[in-house]
Amino acid sequence: MSTQTVKAFGTDAPTEELKPLPIERRELTAKDVEIDILYCGVCHSDLHTARNDWGGTKYPSVPGHEIIGRVTKTGNDVADFKVGDLVGVGCMVDSCKTCSSCQQGLEQYCLNGFVGTYNGKDKHLGGHTFGGYSEKVIVDQDFVLRVPENLDAAAVAPLLCAGITTWSPLRHWNVKEGSKVAVVGLGGLGHMAIKLAKGLGASVTLFSRSSNKIQDAKDLGADDVVISTDAEHMKSVLGKFDLIVDTVPYLHDVNPYMATLGVNGTLVLVGYLGDLDEIVNTVSLIRSRKSIAGSLIGGIAETQEMLDFCGKHNIVSDIEMINMQDINGAYERMLRSDVKYRFVIDMKSLKN
Ligand code: NAP
Ligand code: ZN
Repeated sequence: MSTQTVKAFGTDAPTEELKPLPIERRELTAKDVEIDILYCGVCHSDLHTARNDWGGTKYPSVPGHEIIGRVTKTGNDVADFKVGDLVGVGCMVDSCKTCSSCQQGLEQYCLNGFVGTYNGKDKHLGGHTFGGYSEKVIVDQDFVLRVPENLDAAAVAPLLCAGITTWSPLRHWNVKEGSKVAVVGLGGLGHMAIKLAKGLGASVTLFSRSSNKIQDAKDLGADDVVISTDAEHMKSVLGKFDLIVDTVPYLHDVNPYMATLGVNGTLVLVGYLGDLDEIVNTVSLIRSRKSIAGSLIGGIAETQEMLDFCGKHNIVSDIEMINMQDINGAYERMLRSDVKYRFVIDMKSLKN
């Protein structure tokens, strides 16, 4: 298959900084959409992957899975998109489309493994996929999302990962008017969880380590903020919540949060991957029928549902725009939780 070389930013090794790194993109097939990338959000998963935190990163690595752009070409079989459309691409660019998960619109749980937007197995060129820190991307039409034109396109980018990753558990656990939701960690995912849960009519509490995020959380819509390092403060919300969305990226003890769930409550982990720090005490699980669950991004139809909901309710991410060349500094700031609340790369900076 012939290819085209496009500009991108990536890294050759876990300890190296990101730098200009041209990549090959496939030529358009009949089912593909070619997208000129305008903006790409910076997810903590980009950093985990670039630095091989989870193991399994293939190098060179080009992260980026919160992609917004305009359609520049469409394959012969593409009916739903045309040149000029504003579109998005999230964490997946393909799946088997035939297994029971895919058939139910749960492509993220594809039994044969979905193809990640980066570090996935490239079915067309062999090797691995490259993400959105690049000029353009070619994507199967079934994995392209429509972006509401009434929203600020740059601020929509984080919805493609941070938005859907928090929307999916809110919907799965049926959050609605009157639900009591808590969110752990005010970062990219956390701030979207607050906005989306509020949009669905829930009352929302933020658990944060940091008292200097209280006002911001309230401005984002949180009804209450509890400082998770303050044991007395934690006691004030014992047994309160129906659902807790835990976005913390690193090892932590979930027991203090479990205690704040009510009967039938669920704590859903979306951040940290790996063994939990402390043994989870089962007494309150059994005595109050509580659950601990996990959740991965969301399916394509569900992502479209979330984007349409955001279009209707005017929900976008709070962003700090950066140039592609600023990415290494942005990673350091993200590690210090010093971002309000998502970096988005203006891809013009890569093209110039
Ligand atoms: P982020 O912007 O860095 O936010 C994480 C927040 O967690 C921080 O702002 C901080 O909030 C809190 N935090 C950070 N380190 C902590 C620690 N050691 N202990 C306790 N709290 C800590 O990250 P993000 O982009 O939202 O991503 C969060 C995690 O979700 C990452 O691990 C990412 O890989 C993962 N992720 C998962 C999915 C999925 O499908 N499940 C999708 C996307 C991302 P406070 O300062 O308020 O405490
Ligand atoms: Zn992500």
